[in-house]
Amino acid sequence: MPKRSCTFNNELQNEYPFLKKVFNQVDRVKCSCGSEFSVSHGGRADIKDHLKSSRHKNNLLVSAGSSKLTSYFKSSEPHNKELLLAAKEATSLTTLKDIKIVPVIIRYFQPEFGIKVKFLEFKSVPGETAEILTNHIMTVLKEHNLDKKVIGFCGDNCNTNFGGVKRGGNNNVFARMN
Ligand SMILES: [Zn+2]
Repeated sequence: MPKRSCTFNNELQNEYPFLKKVFNQVDRVKCSCGSEFSVSHGGRADIKDHLKSSRHKNNLLVSAGSSKLTSYFKSSEPHNKELLLAAKEATSLTTLKDIKIVPVIIRYFQPEFGIKVKFLEFKSVPGETAEILTNHIMTVLKEHNLDKKVIGFCGDNCNTNFGGVKRGGNNNVFARMN
């Protein structure tokens, strides 16, 4: 009896929306990183192998500049690198359209799983003053009951986040969050 081979079914499609079935093939998929592979041997295991492969990771880094932001959000288990790339793209999007989008990303540690990175919120805000940003971040943290658990804040080099060259003053996100 021939061994039954795996196909790319609806369940897998829902789980990995960034994979597209290759036309007229039941077991071949094209990944958002640009590579094509077969899932006939192990189904989900084939996909996980691919996601771990250096081919996938390197291609993603290369294509990050041009691929769509949305493709990073649908995966149920996004890689840290993908999240960082998405955040980076969000920053560049803001300069394009004059819409201020603030990605709030949390990094946390779980003894069983190690360090995890997750998107908490991804919304536009009415401006980019320290006050608006601080209020927004604190609201998001409170919504998730995390406001008392934060041990660090990381933002880009903009003065609004940490103050000017001397890192002084109180009108910046870091000082306001304290
Ligand atoms: Zn890939």
